[in-house]
Amino acid sequence: MKCAIRILALFAAAAMLCHPISAAETLTMACGGGTLELTLEEYVTGVVLGEVPYTFGEEAIKAQAVAARTYYLYCKQTGARQHEGADVCDSPAHCCGFTTEADLAARFGEDYARRSVEIVRAAVEATAGEVLTYEGEPICAVWHASSPGATEASENVWQGALPYLVSVTSEEAVDLTEVTLTSAEVASLLPDWDGGRSLEWASNSSGRCGTLGIGNLTLTGTEARALFGLRSTALTARWDGDMLRLTAAGYGHGVGMSQRGADAMASRGCGYREILAHYYPGCEVG
Ligand SMILES: [Zn+2]
Repeated sequence: MKCAIRILALFAAAAMLCHPISAAETLTMACGGGTLELTLEEYVTGVVLGEVPYTFGEEAIKAQAVAARTYYLYCKQTGARQHEGADVCDSPAHCCGFTTEADLAARFGEDYARRSVEIVRAAVEATAGEVLTYEGEPICAVWHASSPGATEASENVWQGALPYLVSVTSEEAVDLTEVTLTSAEVASLLPDWDGGRSLEWASNSSGRCGTLGIGNLTLTGTEARALFGLRSTALTARWDGDMLRLTAAGYGHGVGMSQRGADAMASRGCGYREILAHYYPGCEVG
């Protein structure tokens, strides 16, 4: 393995950072029109509760805890997410979702909620204060639901390339979802489309859809995903009579750790440090 993994005490890691992390780190979360004061570990627990089911492998849940803690610190230290009077918010569209035991109880019942909190809290405590770093700084530890085959490189989804957000293999069960549209529906989504049925698929550097040509138009993979409401850019397209059938493998932007892939690694006996080293190559857990 090319990554040197080492576990450092929190304060040793903090000494390497421009903005040291305190073991008693607290934060203010904007939620429900007000704010809530939390310790970093309480915040991480709430994020992980909403991200993975307790039935996931213990090591995958620990990996998720380290990624969630790291992502918060990355955003805070880089100013990537701004809030008035708060460090973070509970919106999954902006920061991360924050889930409580009561939220889970309302959705899945009290037994599920209690068991989830017990297991997630243990995973957070087992990794307390541990952060993924690259050259001594917390990384942009993004994650997504699933990426059968391979993950995506950051530059194919966002503006910049990051050395640790590259495409890596992800051995996990393939889950396919299909979106079917009539040509009239395609035309309404693409007002400039000439009605031509030609489909030209070109791969990006990760083997996903880089561009999809439909008649006279060419969409990027990310544009096609957003426009047609697909779960991922690992997509294929074909006409079936008057229907355009679009199939997507996996779920999410594909960058960083695949949660399903992490669970698959855990079930194969990998530890959380190995999981993190795989999905964020070149980084250290400290
Ligand atoms: Zn936010």
